[in-house]
Amino acid sequence: MEQTRHMAVALDGPSAAGKSTLARAAARRFGFLYVDTGAIYRSVGLAACRAGIDPKDTAAVMELLPGLRIDMAYDERGVQRMLLDGEDVSEAIRRPEISLYASDVSAHPEVRAFLMEMQRDLARRHSVVMDGRDIGTVVLPDAELKVFLTASAAARARRRWLELREKGIETDPEEVRRDIAYRDQQDTRRAAAPLRPAEDAVFLDTSELSLEQSVEALCGLIREAMER
Ligand code: C5P
Repeated sequence: MEQTRHMAVALDGPSAAGKSTLARAAARRFGFLYVDTGAIYRSVGLAACRAGIDPKDTAAVMELLPGLRIDMAYDERGVQRMLLDGEDVSEAIRRPEISLYASDVSAHPEVRAFLMEMQRDLARRHSVVMDGRDIGTVVLPDAELKVFLTASAAARARRRWLELREKGIETDPEEVRRDIAYRDQQDTRRAAAPLRPAEDAVFLDTSELSLEQSVEALCGLIREAMER
């Protein structure tokens, strides 16, 4: 493991750009905590789905929030688990339909505010690689390093389809492409904390890079930031 000082790395980018895989690998390399903020929004999405409410209905979602108990835990391998009212929902939140619920609920400013402190608190207590959509712009504006990860829509759709298949979730490739396009549009156009690169973000495009090359590129950026 490489020697480090307290540090926050913000990793933002569109759906299926490979953020979680890269963030996890880099965090392990430097002994940082990996925080997957998408999983937190997915947990709220799952709660909305289970409650049978329309995730676009602000009033209904707001009514749901105060009663929600969302916790994060790390297992013995350092893998983040999500708990919803004490139940481990780490697998349930990965269902494709929950992605859409997550995208819908995350457009409400009330939901974003509700989850903000949880994310900031983790970065105060640990060195983190935190991935999401608004980490560099809103959640951790003082992060020592901000990376905006991109990849072509075709590369992202293919990777997400393969990832789902590995988890035993069979989907239609066209449906995966449509889901990603829907979330790209919604995440970049929403009024509350839209997906956009921070002014001081470094761009990393992985369309043409292998996983190993992408990890090396990200670790190189972290090392540089540490020496600044
Ligand atoms: O990263 P992931 O695809 O798991 O995130 C699910 C959804 O949660 C995204 O489509 C996005 O709408 C929302 N999200 C967000 N802000 C974050 C992380 C995720 O709005 N920091």
